[in-house]
Amino acid sequence: MLKIPYARQEISEADIQAVCEVLRSDWLTQGPAIERFEEAVAQYCGCPHAVSACNATSALHLACRALGLSSGDLLWTVPNTFVASANCALYCGAQVDFVDIDPHTYNLCVQNLEQKFKAAAAHGKLPKILVAVDFSGLPCDMKSIARLAGEYGVRVIEDASHAVGAEYEGEKVGSCRYADVTIFSFHPVKIITTGEGGLALTRDAEIAAKMRLLRSHGITRDSDRMTGPSEGPWYYQQIDLGYNYRLTDIAAALGHSQLQRIGEFVRRRRTLADRYHRLLAKLPLRTPAQEGTWESAWHLYVIQLELDRLKKTRRQVFERLRSKGVLVNVHYIPVHLQPYYRAMGFKEGDFPNAERYYAAAISLPMYYGLSDQEQDQVVETLSEGLA
Ligand SMILES: *Cc1c(COP(=O)(O)O)cnc(C)c1O
Repeated sequence: MLKIPYARQEISEADIQAVCEVLRSDWLTQGPAIERFEEAVAQYCGCPHAVSACNATSALHLACRALGLSSGDLLWTVPNTFVASANCALYCGAQVDFVDIDPHTYNLCVQNLEQKFKAAAAHGKLPKILVAVDFSGLPCDMKSIARLAGEYGVRVIEDASHAVGAEYEGEKVGSCRYADVTIFSFHPVKIITTGEGGLALTRDAEIAAKMRLLRSHGITRDSDRMTGPSEGPWYYQQIDLGYNYRLTDIAAALGHSQLQRIGEFVRRRRTLADRYHRLLAKLPLRTPAQEGTWESAWHLYVIQLELDRLKKTRRQVFERLRSKGVLVNVHYIPVHLQPYYRAMGFKEGDFPNAERYYAAAISLPMYYGLSDQEQDQVVETLSEGLA
C-alpha cells in the first residue's frame, strides 16, 4: 500500500561517506568535526558564533541559562509550538506564559505582544525572555518583535527549529540581526539532519562563551576564567553548573555534509509548496500564508480545513488520509492545553487563535524526496476525503 510520511530525511552517499570518515578517525566526540560544522553554519547564516548541542531542546536550555533566566523569572512563547520552546523556562526554574498567534501566519501576533507587554509593564510582570517561533519555517516578524522587546528590556530567542534555510529581509534566518540567540534543530524531520542535534547562533561573544561552558559541565581549562592559579597542565575547574549537551563528531560530520545541499533542499520544498498552493486552491480549506520578502523554509505545509463548509470532522478527514497511507500529522496541540501546563492554571479559551487554528489543522507530507506523483496522490486522496 501507498505510504507517504509527513516528513523524512534525505541521506546521500556523500553523507554516509562523511560519517564513515569520522568513524575511521581518532575523534568520535570533542574532535575537529564539531568546529568545522559550527563554522560552516555560522558562515552560512552570516553570524559570528555558532554553538552546537545534542539537540535543539538542550540548545534552548543553554540559551536561557546564558541569558540569565532563573527562578522567579518569566519566559513568554507562543502556544502553537513544540513543548520544548516552553519547557526550557521550566528547566531554569522560571515560569511560562504565552502570547497568542496571528490567525493568518500562525506565528506570534505582534499586536497581541504589544498589548501584553503594556499590561505586563503596568503590573511589573515583564518576562526576561521571549521565545519567538518561526512556525512551519516562516520567519516571524522579527524586526517588530525585536523593536518591542527592546523597548521593554526583554531578550529574544528565535526558535528557528523549522526555519533552517529560510530568509528574512534578504538575510538567512540565523543571522541574529533581530534575536539575541537563534536556535536550529537537526532532528530527521527538520530541514537538514544530524540524527539528534541542535545549534545556537549569537552575535554576542560572551553569550556564546557561556553556552559553550554550560554545554560541557561548566568546566573550563582557561586559566583566565579560573579562581586562583592553575595547578598544572591537567588542571580544570568547574565554575558553573553545566551539563553534557555536546554533539558528537559523527553527528557534526553528517550535519556538515547535509549543509552542502541545503539550497537544493529548500528549493525543492518551495517548489512543492507552490504545487500544493495550486493543486489545493479549489478545495474547502485554507493554504498557508506566504509573506512577500520572508522566504519560508517550508518545514511544514499546514492546511486549515474550512469545517463549516464540510460535512466531516477534522478527525474523519485525518483518519481517512492515514488509512489510505497518507501519513499526515497535526502541528501543534497548543502547549497550554497539555496536562502539565493545565496543572499550572492554563485552560481552554486562554489563547483562542491557537486553539481555533489547532482544531482545523492538518500537516500534509512535505520533504525533499516527495515526488510530484506522490504529491498528486496526496492531493487526490485529500480531495476525495473532503467530498
Ligand atoms: C523540533 C523542535 C524543537 C526540538 O528539537 P529537538 O532537536 O528535537 O530537541 C524545538 N522547537 C521546535 C519549534 C521544534 O519544532
